[in-house]
Amino acid sequence: MKNMSGMWKKLFRVDLTPTRCSSRGISSSIYDVVISGGGMVGAAAAAALGTGSLLKEKKVLWLESSAQRSYVPPSGYSNRVSALSPASKSFLQDLGAWSIIEDFGRVQPVSCMHVWDGCSEASITFSQPQNLAYIVENDMTLHALDTIAASSEVELAYETTAVEYITTDPYSTSVKLSTGDTVSAGLVIGADGFKSLARQSAGINTLSWGYDQVGVVATLKLGSQEGDNTTAWQRFLPTGPIAVLPISSDSSSLVWSTNPSHAKSLLSLTPESFVDAVNRALHEESSKDGVVSLFTHQFRKILSSLLATDATNQSSPKLPPTVLEVQEGSRASFPYGMMHADKYVAPRLALVGDACHRMHPLAGQGVNAGFGDVECLVRTLTAAISIGSEIGRLYSLTGYETERQRHVVSIIAGVDGLYRLYSNNWTPAVLIRSIGLMGVNALPFIKKSLMNHAQS
Ligand SMILES: Cc1cc2nc3c(=O)[nH]c(=O)nc-3n(C[C@H](O)[C@H](O)[C@H](O)COP(=O)(O)OP(=O)(O)OC[C@H]3O[C@@H](n4cnc5c(N)ncnc54)[C@H](O)[C@@H]3O)c2cc1C
Repeated sequence: MKNMSGMWKKLFRVDLTPTRCSSRGISSSIYDVVISGGGMVGAAAAAALGTGSLLKEKKVLWLESSAQRSYVPPSGYSNRVSALSPASKSFLQDLGAWSIIEDFGRVQPVSCMHVWDGCSEASITFSQPQNLAYIVENDMTLHALDTIAASSEVELAYETTAVEYITTDPYSTSVKLSTGDTVSAGLVIGADGFKSLARQSAGINTLSWGYDQVGVVATLKLGSQEGDNTTAWQRFLPTGPIAVLPISSDSSSLVWSTNPSHAKSLLSLTPESFVDAVNRALHEESSKDGVVSLFTHQFRKILSSLLATDATNQSSPKLPPTVLEVQEGSRASFPYGMMHADKYVAPRLALVGDACHRMHPLAGQGVNAGFGDVECLVRTLTAAISIGSEIGRLYSLTGYETERQRHVVSIIAGVDGLYRLYSNNWTPAVLIRSIGLMGVNALPFIKKSLMNHAQS
């Protein structure tokens, strides 16, 4: 995402006091924009359109299938969290949503990230003076964005599903709603998730495949540890990566990607046995490959002498935390898949978020890419309005598609490549990836460029 901070500050003015958003009201049958979907990305689109200097003049209807949400901070932590990049933080800050998240005190910075191979000694540590990411509960992010959207003129219709999209004339799309109403829209923003009806109705093809993995999530209570719990840990095991992301000074969020049958058994364990399983997955050495260890030991020595430094220093393999407890009721699992839409736009349609791209969460990029889409789309639409163009016309939207596909395709390729590289424990593959990881860890400029890409 480009750093548009200055421009955004000029484009957006947020007034938090009045609540003009109707919770179930549809006041008209004609809208400039209909946003379909009220997940984090649709909520960001509603907040950005509702507060954008030129776009807020537009009549916007925002649809969400599920019931109206109200936010009461839980006593523990939700098991659904996202690692938000600095670019996403800056985007949310410009919308006025970040200060709401901070006011609730429900954000934990990540100052260091330690990633290591469960089959070898190889590891990499990322750290920099500014934070690498911020862990925020999805409900919290939604609440902050809902609050901003609610302070605007955007009309919100909960429990309202778009059931059919018909584009018969060049000026609008008719959207049939589950309530029986039909509204017309100059532009539909499809933020309706990876099964997107908006995308399917436009006949947009996708490239997709499943991963033989699901994500087991849970909230973990940690034992005493060094520092203030701002390190994110990820260990690549032959069955998939296990990640422990800091959510407060003594709690972390687990995302354990594994095969479906293992996931099922993890969910059925007693809390004590589940905690034991997590600790074993983080600490046990039994998956290590002896042959690879011999080679990597020699490789480390060579690196150290070549770089005239201790190549192990930079990886500083601190011990991962020890888990004490799992928060009651916090265990759940989610299926994974990869999907990329051939097109992000069509006449009268722009897709954002999981509606146009879905990826394995091992690099924590899904919602960050979705926020990047919204930032880019709003910037593109604002530019179109400023020169008097109509926002739903294809020529007003293609710049958005080009910019985002270029960015997102490289992320999906990287994430999918990492998944494949680490999904096997065949000795030559483990050796190659271990040497690669150690090499990258020893070369600060490559590490920096990787970090920059992940944070944009
Ligand atoms: C275990 C796990 C961990 C993850 N961790 C991270 C992370 O750390 N960082 C990160 O960036 N990403 C992460 N992700 C990915 C991230 O959660 C998703 O990319 C993001 O939630 C997608 O948001 P969305 O709004 O595009 O779609 P969704 O969340 O799917 O929202 C779609 C919304 O549209 C509504 N809807 C659907 N159809 C209609 C319709 N016809 N009419 C009206 N409403 C409709 C639905 O009710 C839903 O609310 C993770 C994913 C998983 C599974």
